[in-house]
This record gives sequence, structure tokens and C-alpha cells, in this order.
Amino acid sequence: MDWALSLAEVAAHVAVIHRRSKFRAAPENVARLQSLALCGAVEMIIPYQLHGLEGDDAGRLTAVIASDLDGGERRLEADVLLPFFGLSQNLGPIAKWGLNLDRNHVAVDPATGAAGQPGLFAIGDIVTYPGKLKLILSGFAEAAAAAHAIFPLVHPGEALHFEYSTTQGIPAAS
Ligand SMILES: Cc1cc2nc3c(=O)[nH]c(=O)nc-3n(C[C@H](O)[C@H](O)[C@H](O)COP(=O)(O)OP(=O)(O)OC[C@H]3O[C@@H](n4cnc5c(N)ncnc54)[C@H](O)[C@@H]3O)c2cc1C
Repeated sequence: MDWALSLAEVAAHVAVIHRRSKFRAAPENVARLQSLALCGAVEMIIPYQLHGLEGDDAGRLTAVIASDLDGGERRLEADVLLPFFGLSQNLGPIAKWGLNLDRNHVAVDPATGAAGQPGLFAIGDIVTYPGKLKLILSGFAEAAAAAHAIFPLVHPGEALHFEYSTTQGIPAAS
């Protein structure tokens, strides 16, 4: 959004390819982009996504191919492509599993990853609890805690021996 607004002032042509009509930008910037689109200063290619690139023998970009959700394609001659990716979290069918949900996340017990239905556990970015940080490190720690909580369900009656790979090595695949 910011790049499009800035480049519209200097570039010969700016096209914004976006997968959906909504933008998660400041409303003022969205309004500015829309008015630039209305007067033809920016071309809005929506709902499309990046499909392919064309270049010349010197390795320079010559065109960007955008495709819509029905497989239709548009070829846009271009000198420069600025790719940005975004995230749109969607629980899909998981939303109907009867889990504890909190604003598009699964609310879990952080000590175990228990997700509100017996035997169902969740870890990673999909979960929420007080102090949750969306980090790889947090996901790994949650995985270890959940594995501990899940062990007695998978191996009832068996003792869980807590071990370090540092001292015990990595278990051989059986
Ligand atoms: C731009 C950016 C930079 C980041 N930088 C860092 C960093 O420097 N350090 C750090 O620790 N963390 C960083 N993070 C956060 C980190 O990427 C996440 O915390 C981590 O990837 C979460 O792992 P996850 O396995 O829970 O989820 P994800 O990595 O999001 O994996 C979920 C997977 O499930 C798939 N999926 C979704 N829905 C379905 C479905 N219905 N069926 C099947 N598959 C599905 C998705 O395609 C995806 O592959 C960054 C995140 C972003 C967006």
C-alpha cells in the first residue's frame, strides 16, 4: 500500500495485484489508493495473485502474469515487481470442532495445549493464552509441553522418562 502510494507519484505506471478487495492498511491510505485508482494513476488488479514472471535473455523482468481464482490470467508489462506477502488466518473446518475459540484462535491451557475437547491439543500460531508470543521458539516449547500431556493418553500406564538429547542422544526410529 505504502509503496503504491509513493510510486504513483514517480512511476510511469503502477499496478497493485491483491488477492482480495479489502486492505488491512490505515483507512486514510486505503482511501488515497482508491482515489488514485479512480483517476487512473494506479491500476488495481483485484482479486488476482502472482502467477508467473517473464524476462528477457539478460535476466531482466519484462512482464508479470497474474491469475484470478478461476484461472483467468492477465499479463502486465513491468520493469519491477515488488512482492509482499500477507497472512489471513482462517480456521476453516477447525472452527466447527467445538474447541475453545477466542477471536479466530484456539484458546488452550498453556501447560498442556489442551484445546477444550478431550484428546485434542493445539500448538503454534493457531493458539492463544495469556502472554502468547507468535514465535517459532514458543511453538517448539508448546510442542514439548503438549507431547508430555499427550504421552499418557497414547501410552496409558507407562512411565514417561524425561530425557535430554544432549545426554541421551536422539532416539533411533523404530
Ligand atoms: C513475516 C514473518 C516473520 C517472522 N519472523 C520470525 C522470526 O524471526 N522468529 C520467530 O521465532 N518467528 C517469526 N515469525 C513467526 C513464525 O513464523 C511463526 O510463529 C511460526 O511459523 C508458527 O508456526 P506454526 O507451525 O504454528 O504455523 P505456520 O508456520 O503458519 O504453519 C501452519 C501451516 O499450516 C498450513 N495450513 C493452514 N491451514 C491449513 C489447512 N486447513 N489444512 C492444511 N494445512 C493448513 C499452512 O499453510 C502452514 O503451512 C515470523 C512470522 C512472519 C509472518
